[in-house]
Amino acid sequence: METDVRKNPALLKLDLYCKGMRLGDECLPERNGGRRILRTRAGLGSGLELILPGGLWTNVPVVEAFALESPYVLRHGGDGFRIDHDALGPVARVRLSPQPEWYERKTSTGKPMSRIGTLQGTYLGIYPAKVCDYWLLTPKEQCAFCSVGLNLGADDADEKSVQEVVEVARAAQRESRITYIDFNTGHYDGDTYLDILEPYVRRVKEATGLLVGVQTPPHRDLTRYKHLRRIGVNRVSFCFELFNRERFRTVCPGKHREYGLDRYLAAIEYCAREVGPEGQGFEPWVVNGEIIAGLEPATDSIAAIDWITSVGAIPTVCVFRPLQGTLYKDVRPPRTEDLVPVFARLYEACMERGLPIGLAPNVHVSLVLLPEEARWLQNRPRRFWLGELKNAVARRVVATRLRRSRRRAIEKARNRRPVGLQPTP
Ligand code: SF4
Repeated sequence: METDVRKNPALLKLDLYCKGMRLGDECLPERNGGRRILRTRAGLGSGLELILPGGLWTNVPVVEAFALESPYVLRHGGDGFRIDHDALGPVARVRLSPQPEWYERKTSTGKPMSRIGTLQGTYLGIYPAKVCDYWLLTPKEQCAFCSVGLNLGADDADEKSVQEVVEVARAAQRESRITYIDFNTGHYDGDTYLDILEPYVRRVKEATGLLVGVQTPPHRDLTRYKHLRRIGVNRVSFCFELFNRERFRTVCPGKHREYGLDRYLAAIEYCAREVGPEGQGFEPWVVNGEIIAGLEPATDSIAAIDWITSVGAIPTVCVFRPLQGTLYKDVRPPRTEDLVPVFARLYEACMERGLPIGLAPNVHVSLVLLPEEARWLQNRPRRFWLGELKNAVARRVVATRLRRSRRRAIEKARNRRPVGLQPTP
């Protein structure tokens, strides 16, 4: 593996997650066409959205205390932005992820569009419902790393109607060329999260033909996931965060009490193995199990990756970030060297199992290091050449089919367009 961050952009992405970055005085992103630094997105991200060499999109911690001790600093000169390292000197030229023009516009109901949804990398993330119930209990039961309850009402609008979300999805599709929209909820008593999301999913799918994903707790009625697939959902994601049962109980007390780790695992296995090809025409279907590296021993994270891939699902591995205002704000972030084996295993396990990684066109994710990006952390990446070839072919097939379904959605929208509602060109 290339160990020089100047030559290995995935290692740089990981190192920046772990160490953060200082901002040079001249580097205010909004004055330079970049995205406003939001306090949080979906409870994990809080930083500066950047594009690293190799086209790797990332979200670099810049507001947390540990970032002030970072050896990395962002500089801006006549020829753009670069990251410098105190010991290594110039490390990489980078670009700020562009701030879309639609962020500043308003929906037909007068709300700023960026309070309905925000770009995370190159996809649109929407948290459509009220704050997770764990934040509303007395005493609170929120996950110790989570900042969702701090964020809602600050950077996000509280109520988001289906029509508002459709307007933002269309703007993002038209102007930011997104291909994927992700709906995310916390826990609501009575397992209502899928009932809440379904009208959004149906209307956004119908209006845009975009790939759609949902991230919620595991519903008690697993057959609901077959229904989700039928209405056009392409991805379901279950965040169990920690595979170590003791750590799961400590870090996620609400999830432990309400669901327990086994419910999460059962839902992942069911969705990966039992939800058959029931989509509308050709619709990709991906199941993710999401964990946070850095809050349990690396061996447990690797065991989680091996379990998730063994049932045919794809791991999403976040790096723990001690966000301001959270219960874990004073916990140290993980060390890069401890996480390299975790991410190396991520790519390796996906390829060993022949899992379809990196298939969705133009989906760059800033909050996690993707399995396909972790290829850079391999000692012998070429041994998976056949699997990579298969994924490259599948990528082209998915892109072609998606173009068709998008055209169909536009046609349909044209045929039943209400006055004043323009279809996405
Ligand atoms: S389930 Fe945990 S991580 Fe998710 S929103 Fe609620 S408190 Fe945050």
